[in-house]
Amino acid sequence: MPSMESFARTLHGVLQGIENAATLSGRPGAVKLLAVSKTRPAEAVRALAAVGQRAFGENYVQEGVAKRQALADLDLEWHLIGHLQSNKSREAAEHFDWVHSLDRPKLVDALGQARPADRPPLNVLIQVNVDGEASKSGCAPADVMALAGRIAAAPRLRLRGLMAIPEPHPDPAHRRDAFRRLKALQDRLAAAHPSVDTLSMGMSDDYALAIAEGSTLVRIGTALFGRRD
Ligand SMILES: *Cc1c(COP(=O)(O)O)cnc(C)c1O
Repeated sequence: MPSMESFARTLHGVLQGIENAATLSGRPGAVKLLAVSKTRPAEAVRALAAVGQRAFGENYVQEGVAKRQALADLDLEWHLIGHLQSNKSREAAEHFDWVHSLDRPKLVDALGQARPADRPPLNVLIQVNVDGEASKSGCAPADVMALAGRIAAAPRLRLRGLMAIPEPHPDPAHRRDAFRRLKALQDRLAAAHPSVDTLSMGMSDDYALAIAEGSTLVRIGTALFGRRD
């Protein structure tokens, strides 16, 4: 595992890159870093937490729960960013602070009913299948407003915004267009729901572009921890 100094240097570099892009887009301080720790050991999360990172993203419920329990002595914020199967929704509602992958009505009811009464409402983002890819989960853009209405009516859930993973494409203009469509949808959503303040878009390869188009939360794994096996 990299040394503490190297974690500190890498984190500082990524935060600087985010802040530069945010400042260029006229929004200094407005973009938050989510460190994507999927496949990384709990000790790598601990090392990044020791140099100041607090929010971590996991793709699989079981893996995230195991790390949260191993690191229960730290005050961290856990985000589920991977596809959520209905039969895992109870565990997700009990252990995560945020779910980025809410994409169907069935999950609204399951998460809402399972969120423990002694915890604050679960923060949720609607995952949008912005490029209409058959292979990808996510709500169709045309269905977002209806799903949002259902979330807003669920007392144990708090609607915070949208998340998407645009189709990988060699032409950056293609991805820029996807980010723009998401931002437009986010603006409509925020006009209807005052709790909406988060637009989760941008990863290691395209976070500067995503921030230029209005992202408020970037999900970064590779640039922080190195390549995954
Ligand atoms: C893995 C993953 C990321 C991080 O991707 P990197 O390219 O490693 O930064 C972000 N978002 C989601 C949903 C992911 O699955």
